[in-house]
Amino acid sequence: MKTALSIAGSDSCGGAGIQADVKTMTMNGVYAMSAVTALTAQNTTGVRAVLETPPEFLREQLDAVFEDIFPDAVKIGMLPSAELVRTIAERLRYYQAKNIVVDPVMAATSGSALMGSGTAEVLANELFPIAALVTPNIPEAAVLSGVTIREEGDMLCAAKRIGDAFGCAVLLKGGHSSGAADDLLYADGGFRWFRGERIENPNTHGTGCTLSSAVASNLAKGFTLDEAVQRAKSYLSCALAAMLDLGKGAGPIEHAF
Ligand code: PLP
Repeated sequence: MKTALSIAGSDSCGGAGIQADVKTMTMNGVYAMSAVTALTAQNTTGVRAVLETPPEFLREQLDAVFEDIFPDAVKIGMLPSAELVRTIAERLRYYQAKNIVVDPVMAATSGSALMGSGTAEVLANELFPIAALVTPNIPEAAVLSGVTIREEGDMLCAAKRIGDAFGCAVLLKGGHSSGAADDLLYADGGFRWFRGERIENPNTHGTGCTLSSAVASNLAKGFTLDEAVQRAKSYLSCALAAMLDLGKGAGPIEHAF
């Protein structure tokens, strides 16, 4: 069986973070493991509190996993501090981890910040160069590239800037645009659009986590980057289209569709 590791934060309401990643990896047919970067006390209406994992304890989790069940892919999500970023980068380089997918999580869907100030730059410098794919949404890509993103041309410019600056493939997700949910892949100097109808579902908590873990799962199974992105987008569309409706705020999506 193929295996995948999620390095991310725990979401107590089960919609995003580690919980979304484990569900996604399981439903995509790979064995899921986790290294927790932070505990969050949150529900669909917002994040109430965050408790960061001490860097040395994150390191213990990573060593425990890598020394026993070597993951075929790694998904990286919420990273609250630069110190945790450096710990992960050092350990992943040491183990020569492959198929690394980095979701540069800056804020929760509810708007609460999940990353300390100044951490985005360290994340990009330390982890993007070893990633098989980086998956920013439009607000994250704007921060990382310095490009104001209003239309498709801006998405092309932002994705290329990030990819060229850090030597990584970039999937710029269009879900935060006002039009269709079209995602743009910039890899090996070329662009490819993954077109998607917008699914009118206000419950989008955990969509970013789900997409990145679905890509990681499909890379673990041996699919090419293009195939893995296409399959992940289809998985997310089905999970959104199932119209799960839980909680008082932006609710989670359905994995058992
Ligand atoms: N990671 C954690 C622990 C979270 O709580 C959240 C959002 O609440 C995210 C990541 C990002 O969520 P999304 O997939 O909705 O972008």
